[in-house]
Amino acid sequence: MATALFTRGSVERVKDAIDMVELVGARSDLRRVGTRHVGLCPFHDERTPSFSVNAEHGLYHCFGCGASGDAISFVRETEGLDFAEAIEHLADRYGVELEREEEDPRAEEDRRRRERLMRLLDRTATFYARYLWDSGEARAARDHLAARGLDEQVLRAFRVGYAPSAWNRVLVAGQGDGYAPAEMVAAGVAQMGRRGGYFDRFRARITFPLADARGRVLGFGARAVRDSQKPKYLNSSENELYRKGRHLFGIDRARAAAARAGRVIVVEGYTDVLALHGAGLEESVAIMGTALTPEQLTELGRAATTVLMALDADASGQEAMLRAARAAEQKGIELRVVELPKGSDPAELMAADGAPAFERLLEGALSVPEFEARRVLDGADLRTAHGRDRALELLRPLVAATPERSVVRDELVRRVTDRLEVPASYLAPGSGPDGTSRAGRPAAPDATPGAAVATRRAHPGSRAPAEPSERAFLAMCVGQPRLGRELLLHAGEGHLSEGMQLVRGHLLEHLDDPLADLPDEESTAALVTEIAMLAGSEPSSEPTLRLSFLQLDLRRVERELRAAARERDFERQRGLLEERERARERVTELMGETG
Ligand SMILES: [Zn+2]
Repeated sequence: MATALFTRGSVERVKDAIDMVELVGARSDLRRVGTRHVGLCPFHDERTPSFSVNAEHGLYHCFGCGASGDAISFVRETEGLDFAEAIEHLADRYGVELEREEEDPRAEEDRRRRERLMRLLDRTATFYARYLWDSGEARAARDHLAARGLDEQVLRAFRVGYAPSAWNRVLVAGQGDGYAPAEMVAAGVAQMGRRGGYFDRFRARITFPLADARGRVLGFGARAVRDSQKPKYLNSSENELYRKGRHLFGIDRARAAAARAGRVIVVEGYTDVLALHGAGLEESVAIMGTALTPEQLTELGRAATTVLMALDADASGQEAMLRAARAAEQKGIELRVVELPKGSDPAELMAADGAPAFERLLEGALSVPEFEARRVLDGADLRTAHGRDRALELLRPLVAATPERSVVRDELVRRVTDRLEVPASYLAPGSGPDGTSRAGRPAAPDATPGAAVATRRAHPGSRAPAEPSERAFLAMCVGQPRLGRELLLHAGEGHLSEGMQLVRGHLLEHLDDPLADLPDEESTAALVTEIAMLAGSEPSSEPTLRLSFLQLDLRRVERELRAAARERDFERQRGLLEERERARERVTELMGETG
C-alpha cells in the first residue's frame, strides 16, 4: 500500500517542518489578523477574503465555500495529489528526508528496475522533443502540428517530439547511456526483429509522452506524419510500466487546474488536449480511444468531482454509458456528457469557434440519464402510440437511474412527459405494459412528476455515496480515540451515510482496536478495514478532527435547511439558521478568530 511507504517518524518530521502560512501564502496573499491569517480563498472565486489560516494548529477554513483541512489536505486539493504524493511534495518543499518502511529485497529490486526504466523513458522523451524542434527531418511534423493551430509553447510543455526515421537512433543513444537492448525493449522504446536484432520501435513519427499523474513518462503514443505510413497511431505495447486502459493523456498537466476548477474535461485524442490547454482549458485529459475504464475513472475522481465527457458519445452504447455513470456515482463522481456537434472534435471546434463557444457547450453538459433520454426521444417515432410506448419502455430505466427525489429526476420526468404527452406515473418503475403499477392498481392519471417520484419505493443503500470527508472523519476518530468517542456519539444520520453509520456503530464498540473483531457483514467489514488503515497511515490531531466533524455538521445543517425551504417550514428554517450560526462560531473559535 502506497500510504504505508514512509515511516511514521519521518512523516511526523515533515508535518513539523510545514509552515502553513508560507504554504498557503504561495497561493493567496495572507494578512495577519489577531492569531490568524486571512486572504482570498484559493478554492472559490471571491472578492472579499473569507479564507483563514490557523498557523498554530496548521489548519485552514473557508467561511465562503466550506473548504477546510490541514497542510496535507491543502496540498492534496490544490495539487491534486494523493496522500503519499502530498507527503513527498511537502518533504521536498521543506527539505525533510523521508524514510521508507523497510521493503523486502525483491520489492526493492523491482522498484529500482522501474526507476531505471523510467529514467530511460524520460531521456528518450527529451531526445524526441529536441529532435522535433532542431532537425530538418522533422519539418513536415512541425508543419503538421502548426497547421492544426497548436501552440509551440503547449507542445513544448507536453514534450511532444519526433522520432527519427533511422532504425537505431534511440537504441544507440540508450546503449551509450549504459542500457542493455533488452532493457530498452522492456521500456517499450525498442523491439526485437524476427532475426534477433534490435531496432527502434518509433520511427518517423510525432511522439506524445504518456506520463502518469506525477509526470513520469511511462510510454509513448506516436502518430504517423505521412498518409502512407501504417498504422496511423502506434502506442507503446503493454509492458511492466505502461498499461493502456490505465492511462489518461495530460493528467500530469491537468491535475492542478482540475483541482482548482472542480472539474476535469475528458476528450478523445492528443491534439484535443493540446488545443484545449492552448485555449486555457488546462483541466483537460484524453482517454485515447478506449472506453472509460474503472482505473481511469478513479484517476479522474482524484482530480475533480465533476467529469465532463466531451467524446463522441454516439459511438458508445447506452448500457456502457449508464454503467460508467453508476460506477462514477459509487465513487462520488458526477459524470456529465457534453454534446458535440455531429462529426466534430474539440480541436476542430476550438479552431473554428474559439474557447467561449466551447465553454458554452461545457455549461450545457447533461447528466448521463438526461443525455440518453434525449437520444431515445430523438430516435423515437412519436407519431404512433406504439412508437411512444416503445420510447417509454426505454425511458423507464433511465428515470430509475437518476437519484430519487432529485431535481435531475424532476426535470427529466418533466421533459419526457411533455414530449410524450403522458402522465408522469407512466414513468414509474413497474408501470410497464404488463399492466398494473406496483401498488396493484392503475396509477392516478393526473399525478404530478413530484408525486410519481415520491411514491417510488425507497430502496436501501441508494443514498448518496459515502464521501471522502466521512471516511476521513471516521479515520481521525480512530486516530484520536479520546475525542473520537465523544464525537462519534454526536454523529448521527444527518452526518453519515448509511454504510458509514454501520461503521460508526462498530467503532463505538471497538475504538481501541477496530480490526480485532470485524463485523460479519462483508461491505461494513471492508469499510472498517479501509478506515483503520487510513487511520494508521494518515496522522491526525484533535483540532483537525474537530474541524472535520464541524464540516460534516455544517453539511447536515445546510441539507436540512434546503429541505425546510422546499417545504416552506419557516420555523424549522429559523432554528436551523441559528444552529448554522453556532456551528460557524465554533469553526471561528477553532480558527483563532476573535470577536
Ligand atoms: Zn472558499
